[in-house]
Amino acid sequence: MTYVIETWERPSIPVEGSSGAYPVRHIYCVGRNYAEHAKEMGGDAAKEPPFFFTKPFDSIVPVVPPAVGIVNYPAATQNYQHEVELVVALGKRGFRIEAERANDLVYGYAVGLDMTRRDLQNAMREIKRPWDIGKSFAQAAPIGPIHPVSRVGYLARGRISVEVNGKLKQQGDLSDMIWDVPHVLQFLSQYYELLPGDLVFTGTPSGVAAVVPGDTLIARIESLGELRVRIDNPVA
Ligand code: MN
Repeated sequence: MTYVIETWERPSIPVEGSSGAYPVRHIYCVGRNYAEHAKEMGGDAAKEPPFFFTKPFDSIVPVVPPAVGIVNYPAATQNYQHEVELVVALGKRGFRIEAERANDLVYGYAVGLDMTRRDLQNAMREIKRPWDIGKSFAQAAPIGPIHPVSRVGYLARGRISVEVNGKLKQQGDLSDMIWDVPHVLQFLSQYYELLPGDLVFTGTPSGVAAVVPGDTLIARIESLGELRVRIDNPVA
């Protein structure tokens, strides 16, 4: 087939311990999945069902250590914030699955950053409009290599943190999630058929803060290594 306009490549993410790559289909994200972060965002820590939003696949910026990924400061914001997150990479299909079986869908995990134009997100939230302009834009999801379950097992605990210019900003433990990964997948699969290539960002601990051009972030999750990103000037 020939296309009538210029085309683009399907994004993919390198896989740790493999020469293969993981192809990206959808990018789902969970809001407020750590109690302390829910509080700092003005919510309470009650166990409400998780809620979801999405990012476009050109938000992916794959970064393989020891490289430092470059992310341009995005347009139209004065409050560009980091959210360090466990990313779950799905390898199988699943629809309306039970939490008890949800881990069967998981291919692996990665360290990710849900980069957020917080001022735009908050402005939209206040007037009850969709958050998309705050969350969904190019380069809004830097991500480290996928670590297959075959190498790291199923992750339910482990330290998660991010430092900016050597200063610790966010830290927590995966076990602090309000909804664990299997329950997140159970809820999400009530709304969408989950597919191979789907990524799920699972929420962030407290301590989200703004970054500016020149800042270097190091995001870490125990057993998944590091994700290093430098914030560069806006694209002219
Ligand atoms: Mn997030």
